[in-house]
Amino acid sequence: MPVSFIFRCQFCDAQPDPLTQLRLQAAMREFVWGAYQNALPGRWLVWHGRGLYGPARYACPDHRGDLVAYLREHYGTIGFHPWKRPPYPNSLESADTDHAWITATRRQRWSGF
Ligand SMILES: [Zn+2]
Repeated sequence: MPVSFIFRCQFCDAQPDPLTQLRLQAAMREFVWGAYQNALPGRWLVWHGRGLYGPARYACPDHRGDLVAYLREHYGTIGFHPWKRPPYPNSLESADTDHAWITATRRQRWSGF
């Protein structure tokens, strides 16, 4: 299987399994910023940064907490997004409990143009 992107945990050398790799690649196409997302089945955590919140970041299951702590330390004063509590959505396209919040996030993004 060709791999177009190499994802690495921000805190160790872990790399995702092939299925999680696919989810991470799909997550890169999400047009959101300032949002957490689970990448199953490997339970990686994606941070959609962009702009003020820096680049997208990834953490393996062992370092999810470290990523959240890192983001809150570095970007916590910018806005509320890094403070969002789990559970994080598995897909930002799904109509789960985060839908309204995601919609609000998207609206903010568009108003920035
Ligand atoms: Zn790790």
